[in-house]
This record gives sequence, structure tokens and C-alpha cells, in this order.
Amino acid sequence: MVLTIDRVSRRFGEVTALDEVSLTIGQGEFFALLGPSGCGKTTLLRILAGFETPDSGDVTLDGGDLLALKPERRPINLMFQSYALFPHMNVAKNVAYGLEQERLGKDEIRRRVGEVLETVGLSAMAGRKPQQLSGGQRQRVALARAIVKRPRLLLLDEPLSALDKKVRADMQLELKRLQNEVGITFVVVTHDQEEAMSLADRIAVFESGRVCQVDAPIALYERPASRFVADFVGANNLFEGTASARGLSNGHFGTLPAEGELPEGAPALLAVRPEKISLAADRGLAGTVADVSFYGGVSHVSVDVTGHPKPVLVAVQGASQVRPGERVRLGWRPEDAVLISG
Ligand code: ATP
Repeated sequence: MVLTIDRVSRRFGEVTALDEVSLTIGQGEFFALLGPSGCGKTTLLRILAGFETPDSGDVTLDGGDLLALKPERRPINLMFQSYALFPHMNVAKNVAYGLEQERLGKDEIRRRVGEVLETVGLSAMAGRKPQQLSGGQRQRVALARAIVKRPRLLLLDEPLSALDKKVRADMQLELKRLQNEVGITFVVVTHDQEEAMSLADRIAVFESGRVCQVDAPIALYERPASRFVADFVGANNLFEGTASARGLSNGHFGTLPAEGELPEGAPALLAVRPEKISLAADRGLAGTVADVSFYGGVSHVSVDVTGHPKPVLVAVQGASQVRPGERVRLGWRPEDAVLISG
């Protein structure tokens, strides 16, 4: 399965929801469309599902024109945020519904429903009604219903947003395992960068209707291509200045070490992740500890640096030994910081 989205645009009156979006998604990929509210990701999902038509651009699935197919003819299934389970039907009936619409034989339906309930770990719940299930279990039913028809592509709209934090973490693992097991290509829409990071093989980051970066989670995290991505994907520390041979120059701090390909003197931003900064550097940026918070496995230390508008965030393994008011020096390796065009 290869899905190709080629220069797809969609306007609603004055609003450009999608502006020449192009993406290629491969067989068996877990692909995330990530971006803040209103950036166009749901519009793209709706176009793939057939509930919306683009003003221009092409979409093909394995070379065939997807846009020419009616929604129900597309080898695609959509799993909504709200699950949309039938309240009066038990779990097995909910899952069987789509197959019954296709007029498959009773035995085949029973066999396939049995298999898929086994896959999502709900065999014991087959006779229950949706209101007798927990949020996580309901979500599994919705998933079972979406995969039982063996679509080539499964679209998931904010699949975990209705779940509480603990169940959500479990379901993230579960979704990933399931996707691996069934081998269906998943495209998930989310505004939650942690969710996208933990689920997806690749992520497309959307900003105002445009795709601004497509990369593996680790690459997005370590090599954001723009200020928007650096800001949106986790808490990056950003410093402004100009590119120099060894990093970023700035009147306040001298040169901060970073690697990058920008021409010397170009306006630039330096992005450095909180966990890459060491507090006990013998050289480096001088600052004063403003606050220390302990989060179990890590501590977050914020450090005021004269001339920098926001405290610099440093993540330290375990309980940090530094205290508010203490003077520290912030250091990092040049390869742990990235220069972005500013
Ligand atoms: P969210 O996470 O809030 O759902 P999103 O990134 O999925 O946001 P879209 O729902 O795709 O964003 O919307 C993109 C833009 O298009 C928004 O400005 C939205 O208001 C607008 N829009 C979407 N659908 C319509 C519509 N049917 N009529 C008018 N404007 C629309």
C-alpha cells in the first residue's frame, strides 16, 4: 500500500485549511499528522475518508485515484474520537455490524469477530453492552470494529484524547502493538506531540495548512527544521543570535556551541533540549537557579540567565542537588544543539 497526497489544497471562504500539502505514506507505517488546533489536519483526514473534497491536488492509493471513489468504496476505515458505538448492541454485535452490511456469511462473521476480539483482548467481554465497559475497553471495541473489515488504511482522529492519563499510556502501547500485528497502515491525527512521538514511525508537522517538516520522531526532536517545530515539539530552549563558525553569537553570551549549516552572520536560533544541558559545566553560560521541581524520574531546574527572556529549562536525572539561588554554569556539547534559520 502506498498513499500519495500531491499538492492538496482546500479553502473554506477566507480560510486556507490546506495549502498544497504533499505526503507519501508507505505500507505498514504508523504515520501521525501533528499540529495545533485549526492547522488543517482533520480536513486532510476527512479528504482521505471521502467526507470532504479538495479544491485542487491528487490523492492516490496504490496508484489508483482515491478521490474518484465514494467514501464507502474506499479501502479505508475511520475511527472517531467519540467511538460512536451502538449503545443497544453488545460488543460482538458492534464489531460484526460492518461485516453484516457487507452480507458476509454468518460463520465467517462469527470467526472474524472472534479473531479480532482476541486481538484486542476483549474475548471475555463479547456479550457486554458499551455502557458496561471502561473507557479503554470501549476504545478497543471501536478499534476492533475499525480493523475487522481489513481496510488497507485506518484513519484515527485523536484516538486517545477521551481517555484519562494512565489508560492513555497503556492504550498507546496497545495501539502500537496492534498496528504491528495487523500490518495495516495507520494515519493518526493528534495535537499532542507526546502522543505522536510515542506512536508514530513518522510525523508530519502542520502549521497553518502547510506541512513544515516530515521526519521520524527522534529526528524531529533532535533536528527541528524551524522555530515552529522546535517550539511545538517539546520544550526546547531557544536562543536568538547570528550564526558563527562554532555556533551562535549573541551580544550577551558570546558564542554558544552548536552544529548547523547556516552561513556565517545569518540570523539564527539555537535549540537545545533540556536533558542535553549540564548544570556543572566549568565553562558556559552563567545563571542563577530559579526553581527546582521533582517529577519522579527527573527533576526540572529552571535557570535565570541575564539577557535571556525566559528561564532556561534543564532536565536532570533523579533528584537534583542544586537549590534556588545557587549560581550554576550551563554547558552542552556542540552536537547536542542545533542551529535553525531565524
Ligand atoms: P482541530 O485539532 O481543532 O480539529 P485541525 O488542525 O484538525 O484542528 P481543521 O479542522 O482541519 O483543523 O480546520 C482547519 C481550518 O479550516 C480551521 O480554521 C477551521 O475553522 C476551518 N474549517 C474546517 N472545516 C470547515 C468548514 N466545513 N467550514 C468552514 N471552515 C472550516
